[in-house]
Amino acid sequence: MRSYAVKELLAEQPIGEHVEVNGWVKTFRSNRFVALNDGSTIHNLQCVVDFEQFDEALLKQITTGAALKVTGTLVESQGRGQSVEIQASDIFVHGSADPESYPIQPKKHSLEFLREKAHLRVRTNTFSAVMRVRSALAFAIHQYFQQNGFYYMHAPIITGSDAEGAGEMFRVSTFEPGKEPLNDQGEVDYTQDFFGKETNLTVSGQLEAETYAMGLGKVYTFGPTFRAENSNTSRHLAEFWMIEPEMAFYDLDANMDLAEDFIKSILKYVLEHCQDDLEFLEKRLLDEEKSKPQNERSEMALIEKLRFIVDNNFKRVTYTEAIDILRNSKPNKKKKFQFPIDDWGADLQSEHERYLVEKHFKCPVILFDYPANIKAFYMRLNDDEKTVRAMDVLFPGIGEIVGGSQREERLEVLQQKIKELNIDDKELWWYLDLRRFGTAVHSGFGLGFERMVQFATGMGNIRDVIPYPRFPQNAEF
Ligand code: ATP
Ligand code: MN
Repeated sequence: MRSYAVKELLAEQPIGEHVEVNGWVKTFRSNRFVALNDGSTIHNLQCVVDFEQFDEALLKQITTGAALKVTGTLVESQGRGQSVEIQASDIFVHGSADPESYPIQPKKHSLEFLREKAHLRVRTNTFSAVMRVRSALAFAIHQYFQQNGFYYMHAPIITGSDAEGAGEMFRVSTFEPGKEPLNDQGEVDYTQDFFGKETNLTVSGQLEAETYAMGLGKVYTFGPTFRAENSNTSRHLAEFWMIEPEMAFYDLDANMDLAEDFIKSILKYVLEHCQDDLEFLEKRLLDEEKSKPQNERSEMALIEKLRFIVDNNFKRVTYTEAIDILRNSKPNKKKKFQFPIDDWGADLQSEHERYLVEKHFKCPVILFDYPANIKAFYMRLNDDEKTVRAMDVLFPGIGEIVGGSQREERLEVLQQKIKELNIDDKELWWYLDLRRFGTAVHSGFGLGFERMVQFATGMGNIRDVIPYPRFPQNAEF
């Protein structure tokens, strides 16, 4: 007898066949209908139980959350709501779930409640759908790069370079707390630590990826990154996954073309392969929005929003043009922005990015040529000596989803910059070597994976799109 996944049974519909299926009970109605789900799809399989045929003791164990093996004949369904069902002839209870204490009951639970039950929340429709979309997106990302001549590069997770400047870092040390050895100056003597120097969890694999791009041509990283920033927002995690392509011989225009094509391609993949989950998530969002005031509801439903990205060109705008638009915008004049925009040079906040995307252009925007002093040291200086070849991709509802740049390939310009910013160039000798030996124009960008999952699933909080979110005051599980 063949054992089927629910997804296979619903797709293949082998009517009349004696089949086996394993899963967890979603609901058990009228002592007769078991809705079984095994995680393979958002849809449940209905199992019809003739209660006269089974022991009372067994039936009692069929509660929400119990794990079952059901065997029986697949038949066309008598009832509405499903096309096929199993006429159960045998039921084996792998494990029951005490209804008094099993927290995931068939009713609506708040996302906050489920966050505290993160080890069980994947058994809900919402989280199983989100996690299947997450998995599909990860696959689409690898597929895109592998099909386009990129090599997957594993950047180190423990890093000895603290010059990236992307955010606060988590220290990696084997010193016993409170017993760190001190040097002659009374400072902690890291030469005695495990690595013989200060080390941290990486905030970005970019610098190492650059070294590989300058040998393999086109590479990408896809791994965990860490930031000890104390930002309790719906868009920041302390541990998140980042995708960082890095390409030799790409200028900023080529970089923007790649970012746009890449984003469209992975969203298209999800539209094609996660239809059922997206439909469920869309319905979920519509329900959620009903409780919001009219002006806070989004204008597009989820699937329409994803299609919109795939089908439209991203608007490319310089930072300088954006500042003009923002300075003259209604919310700025009416002092509605928390951070008012007065002068050229201001750093853009999420409220400004979202205004540009959602209100002004009404499409994804790529901002480029930012002021040098609000961007990282490695970005290529323009001839105006004021701006750098940086680009951020801005998305509706999210703000910045991608940050990237053409990298400074000129040794003297980079050295000058490092000096101005008082960065310890002894840490960066290997990075500078790239500019000494066979330097070339090159570019890359970073995509925060969870922000993309948020966008694709419509989930409002980044903590709900990663299995076990890490954020200030939380590392449970
Ligand atoms: P933000 O201004 O939103 O904090 P950033 O400028 O610090 O972002 P980068 O250093 O450019 O971001 O990182 C590249 C990408 O990684 C960002 O575009 C974003 O998608 C994602 N990202 C950055 N910080 C976080 C975080 N704490 N949690 C999740 N994703 C993040
Ligand atoms: Mn940040």
